[in-house]
Amino acid sequence: MEIHVQARTRSKMFCGCAIAELNAPPNTHVCEVCLGLPGVLPVPNKAAVEACLKTALALNCEIPRHTKFDRKNYMYPDLPKGYQISQYDLPMSRDGFLEIGDRRVRIRRVHLEEDTGKLIHAGDKLHKAWESYVDLNRAGVPLMEIVSEPDLRSADEARDYAMELQALLRTVGASNADMEKGQMRAEPNISIRRAGSEELGVKTELKNINSFRALHRAITFEVERQRQALESGGKVVQETRGWSESEQRTFPQRSKEFAEDYRYFPEPDIPPLELDRAWIEQLRASLPELPSVTREALKKELPAADAVLIAGSRDLADLYQRTVARGVPPAATANWIVNEVAPTGKIPSPENLAELVRLVLDGAITREQGRSVLMESVETGRTPAEIVAEHGYAQMSDESELRVLAQAVIDANPKATADFRAGRKQAMQALMADLRKRAPHANAKAASELLMKLLA
Ligand SMILES: [Zn+2]
Repeated sequence: MEIHVQARTRSKMFCGCAIAELNAPPNTHVCEVCLGLPGVLPVPNKAAVEACLKTALALNCEIPRHTKFDRKNYMYPDLPKGYQISQYDLPMSRDGFLEIGDRRVRIRRVHLEEDTGKLIHAGDKLHKAWESYVDLNRAGVPLMEIVSEPDLRSADEARDYAMELQALLRTVGASNADMEKGQMRAEPNISIRRAGSEELGVKTELKNINSFRALHRAITFEVERQRQALESGGKVVQETRGWSESEQRTFPQRSKEFAEDYRYFPEPDIPPLELDRAWIEQLRASLPELPSVTREALKKELPAADAVLIAGSRDLADLYQRTVARGVPPAATANWIVNEVAPTGKIPSPENLAELVRLVLDGAITREQGRSVLMESVETGRTPAEIVAEHGYAQMSDESELRVLAQAVIDANPKATADFRAGRKQAMQALMADLRKRAPHANAKAASELLMKLLA
């Protein structure tokens, strides 16, 4: 699998142009360098080199003493120079690995290159008047290419690998790796072989897959297509294929006969980079705890699904660890993070989350109230206690009030009451649901105890 990831930098790979937002007007983030005008000199972006090295180190790669850039020559309207500056035989790193579950996926290399521009096709089918436009805002945006060895064995593994990589890139801060924004694109190479055979079959390459779901579906489709072709006596042609989201199938784009010879040669305008050992060791030491390590630690105290979700984001993992460090129970903290914080993406301070979880656990406010207190706290930065005081939130915990309420619920639900008395304990759920409907602010624990007492 080849994965292209946009390095997190403020400016482009070889010039000072700012990275454009997705909706920026076309050709507003361009200069002489990224437009490929004659006589200009590219200068490598140190932040991009750093992002690439951090990624490589997190992937256990070896970093060579010397690395260089090369020209990859081809002709296409989105490539203003007529070549892309990439890396050929001396990449920034090689020979690493990433572990997913109990499988070790070897990483062949992580190198740095520049992105191309974008073509926009518009036209009028009826009058056969077609026009194509070029937007060079993306030309020269730094890309890391991460290439794995053929160690992935299924669509599931390929998706897990891509997800793990995304978590790792975000954790080390090398990329936002947002697939919807085109910051991470996958190109799986797929071949099948007979069970027991060691030899890899003829492969096809799928281009530019931009979601985990599409990655899984496209590989599943392609495996089945190849299997049917071989079993019906046909053969698999080595080619590049695209994925059609609307038709949910792959389709041929380019066959090997037309594969280009890129005539790679060293980029004469950029001297080879000497990678200072002290700098590399400094970067290695600065790497945060990786998602796989966080996840294993969290699995010891949380359900696996919660551990995976929280460990997948450095922000959530930090929030969890710092909230629990304040003495709040892990399960309750994780529950609030998974159900309330993660879906909104708005991260409260650990102090405020800890205070909120305690207010709910102690029965001072209901879960429902807690949810709106949390939202208000994130918006305004005020503490949950302040917000609770201001709104006069408080649970109904008074025993005589609760007794009247519980009796009303029993009177209104003769069937559930009879069921419960006949030993069907799940009938309590219906009674509690009615009680919550009547009094959302009732202290649920105290109310259910009272119900039980009255029913007995
Ligand atoms: Zn530029």
